[in-house]
Order: sequence, then structure tokens, then C-alpha cells
Amino acid sequence: MTDAPATPEVPFRILPRLTDLNRDFWTGGKVGELRFQRCQQCGYYNHPPTPLCPICHSKDLAFEVVSGRATVWTFTINHQAWMPGPELPFVVAIVALPEQEGLRLTTNLVDVEPEAVKIGMDVEVVFEPHDDEVWIPLFRPVEGA
Ligand SMILES: [Zn+2]
Repeated sequence: MTDAPATPEVPFRILPRLTDLNRDFWTGGKVGELRFQRCQQCGYYNHPPTPLCPICHSKDLAFEVVSGRATVWTFTINHQAWMPGPELPFVVAIVALPEQEGLRLTTNLVDVEPEAVKIGMDVEVVFEPHDDEVWIPLFRPVEGA
């Protein structure tokens, strides 16, 4: 289990366990970077990260910074507290990243009323820090989009 959040505004979350494979993904928010593992041979963005590229089987994988922009691919509004988590209701979304067809991330949408969320909405990453160890990438509507 994880520790309680450092500040009261930060909701409790089940935090990911950091490994050598996923550390760059979960800590990029410290410097404001959304990073994905990318194959240095064929250019494929690979998420979640794996030791081998699933396309060309190269081991030459590295993390690269992406734009942090995305569009809402699908979403659900969660009214039920399945586990300790953010205040209800909250929006669970899968966002599509423009860097590669099919590159998607499951996340929460923030700074938006659940009824205002639409498929195809432009969103951008914001990071929710936890104990100076993990930065959870969340997405909010792009201002003026
Ligand atoms: Zn590859």
C-alpha cells in the first residue's frame, strides 16, 4: 500500500510500483515532461513499456518526450467509489496521443465538469505529484479549444 498524500488537495490514489522499465514514464512530470518509451530502431511508441519492441523485437528502446496534447477517445463518468480515490464523480478517459495512431493512455480528466466532456475534445497533460516520487499524468481541456 502507499502512503497518504502529502497535501490534502491531492486525492488518494493507488500508486504505480516503479521499476527500471516504467520509471521514466512516472517521473517525467517532475520536469513537466510526458514521456513514452520509443523504439530507436523502428520509431514505434510502446506503452506500457516492455524490454523488447513488439514490432521489430529490438532492445534499443528509450524514453522520448511527447507533446502532452491528446484527444478524448472514450470516457466513462464514475459515480461509484470502487476504491479509495478522487472525489466523486470523476471522469475516467482513454486519450489518444497524436504522435502515433493507436497510442492511447488511460487517465482521469480534471478541471472539467463531467457533463461537459465530449469524445474528440482536445486535452493536455497536467501532472499530479505524489511524495516527490510519482507524477500521475492527468488531462484537462485545452484552454480555448
Ligand atoms: Zn522497433
